[in-house]
Amino acid sequence: MRLILLGAPGAGKGTQGKRLASHFGIPQIASGDLLRAAVAQGTPLGQAAKAIMARGELVGDDIVLGLIRERLQQPDTAQGFILDGVPRNLAQAQHIETMMRELEVQPDAVLFLEVARDVLIKRLAGRRICTKCGSVYNIYFDPPKKAAELCDQCGGSLVQRPDDEETTVVRRLDVYQDQTRPLVEHYEMLGLLRHINAEGTPDIIFQRILQVLPAQ
Ligand code: AMP
Repeated sequence: MRLILLGAPGAGKGTQGKRLASHFGIPQIASGDLLRAAVAQGTPLGQAAKAIMARGELVGDDIVLGLIRERLQQPDTAQGFILDGVPRNLAQAQHIETMMRELEVQPDAVLFLEVARDVLIKRLAGRRICTKCGSVYNIYFDPPKKAAELCDQCGGSLVQRPDDEETTVVRRLDVYQDQTRPLVEHYEMLGLLRHINAEGTPDIIFQRILQVLPAQ
């Protein structure tokens, strides 16, 4: 199964990508995670990306495509993969199509996760992440139950991603509308697009996704 997850920041690509990855036993390849790892490691690439990410803008295509090309060459992608957060503009989409042709594979579907803008803002601005185990909470929709600002799983402290601060969130949504949203028409034309109502609980949304996926 080879899937591309398309949708605004906060649409649930990470959450659903994780579920799909474990359901199909294939890796989730999240460009944002690859970039954050490079920033945390302080690599030259990470240093170049850090300020751009903090502003909520898109990192250069060369950087992102280099990371994705390298990742797609790992042996664990042989049975399939889930692209999460990439492509994010038309140039990236075309490069990824070329990469997949070179690997002699094709996407099975592009899942377009649709969420209203006011819900996206609450999902992003309310998101909190455990510094120890990476569990994700939301202060509006899914707050920690044991203690405010502490992880239920491991007791680690919860922090906000720097680019989830409200002014940056608005910038990210504008960048999405301007550069990424046009990919909907692109994939519709290629006959790959599947619309998913991505409001509701993660379980319900996952069921909706499974219903539209091609049979394996
Ligand atoms: P995400 O975790 O997908 O929300 O991505 C966080 C940030 O990483 C974005 O706001 C961008 O600055 C950068 N980023 C992630 N994926 C891409 C991509 N495909 N192209 C350019 N920038 C990206």
